[in-house]
Amino acid sequence: MGINVAVVYSDTDRFAAHVRLADEAYRLKGESSRETYLNQEAILRIAVQARVDAIHPGYGFLAENASFAEAVRSHGIVFIGPSTEIIRSMGSKTEARRLMAKAGLPLVPGSNGSLKVGTGAVGIAERIGYPVLVKASGGGGGKGMRIVKLPEELLDSMQRAASEAQSSFGDNRIYLEKYIEHPRHIELQILADEHGTVVCLGERECSIQRRHQKVIEETPSAFLTESMRQRMVESAVRAARDLGFTNAITMEFLVDRKRNFYFLEANTRLQVEHPVTEMVTGIDMIKEQVRIAQGEPLRFTQDEIIRRGHAIEARVYAEDPFEEFRPSSGRILRYRQPAGPGIRVDGGIAEGCEVSVFYDPLIAKVIAWGSDREEACLRLIGALGEFEIVGVRHNIPLLLAILGHPGFASGAIDTHFIQDHIRPDRLGAEKLLDETELEAAAVAAAGVYDAAMSRSVVGGGDPTGNTRQQRDKWIRRRLDTTT
Ligand code: ADP
Repeated sequence: MGINVAVVYSDTDRFAAHVRLADEAYRLKGESSRETYLNQEAILRIAVQARVDAIHPGYGFLAENASFAEAVRSHGIVFIGPSTEIIRSMGSKTEARRLMAKAGLPLVPGSNGSLKVGTGAVGIAERIGYPVLVKASGGGGGKGMRIVKLPEELLDSMQRAASEAQSSFGDNRIYLEKYIEHPRHIELQILADEHGTVVCLGERECSIQRRHQKVIEETPSAFLTESMRQRMVESAVRAARDLGFTNAITMEFLVDRKRNFYFLEANTRLQVEHPVTEMVTGIDMIKEQVRIAQGEPLRFTQDEIIRRGHAIEARVYAEDPFEEFRPSSGRILRYRQPAGPGIRVDGGIAEGCEVSVFYDPLIAKVIAWGSDREEACLRLIGALGEFEIVGVRHNIPLLLAILGHPGFASGAIDTHFIQDHIRPDRLGAEKLLDETELEAAAVAAAGVYDAAMSRSVVGGGDPTGNTRQQRDKWIRRRLDTTT
């Protein structure tokens, strides 16, 4: 776009990719989030000194912080995101629920607004029906949620949730929602300009989660029928228009087994999983965000958005799937990213970089595009198998176990998939998969091999000249990575 870019970095991140790639890089002294990426005054001081026109907040730290957006704007700097008012109201899950209900969206049944820990709550939970979920009004990152199965556990759980919410988010307000059993998480990507045009770039299915946080995301969802997709998109676009949404906003929904959909929350920023949307629409989300923030009208109508093929993203985390997903930190000693047709890797790490205990342990995201779900999935399996990361523990074995699972291949997924089908205690064991799973993984690995090596050959033979034994050895190596 011809725009000069200035970035900020903490001491830990001095070798990170964004520092190397930016036109100007400014140091935020220290390592902790509070000292660095959450340090509003220091960031604003740098922004003024560097004479920036606009700030893109990314998708972490201050990206959904209304007071930061307000401070940026009060300095005459453009904040690339929705209005401060929308960021503030969507930042409270209870306020978001109130506004969405008014705009006609179905909500997960729950309390109206936040609740005091007391007998009133008991009646409300009774009305909603157990199990209920105690949630923090200001929550995020999958934190601060508690499932309550029995009435006698309610008040104690609310008490604990409130104090957890206070220490994690500085806000002790909590509320209740019906706990939807085995839901799917399906969200819609909204783009809206400042002239009243609102479009939806389609859905993303993010049901593969651990600890209520996404690990694998894809688009389109294998679960949505065309008529259901249309119903969801129409109601979301209408609500977004009514509420005056601008820039990029994601509206998240839970979908139950009977295909009822319920509004969950709205995120007023770019999502971590935005690349899958970019891969199937060909639309560069950041570019659109910048253009909208400059006051330009959207360049396409809803009908002009063409979605092609299928895309799946896997989040590669420095965490130990064998040890309850405990974050792993350390220096990256070897780092080789995969590449190939339809493969995109978004990451900021290089050899020599440190994965620190201070930030979210996301190492990279690997995104695969394919003409259909199967091709995207096989390409992703191939790419993850090629990824070399030495120095920290990572979750690639878990990702491969999920992608190679027959349940995942058939699209029969929900937010409990990892819990129900993947046995982390067996990930590290010699025999991770049972016979059927092993066979499915072998078929997947063979598929990747054949796709890579002999697609163009009609009537057999291997263009690489590999013998049958070499092919089997290659597949066995892939399976070793999985197991
Ligand atoms: P956060 O903002 O912390 O990410 P969300 O409200 O977006 O919290 O929920 C994150 C995940 O938690 C959802 O994708 C889903 O898996 C689970 N979840 C949240 N609310 C419910 C609910 N009412 N019933 C079942 N699962 C839920």
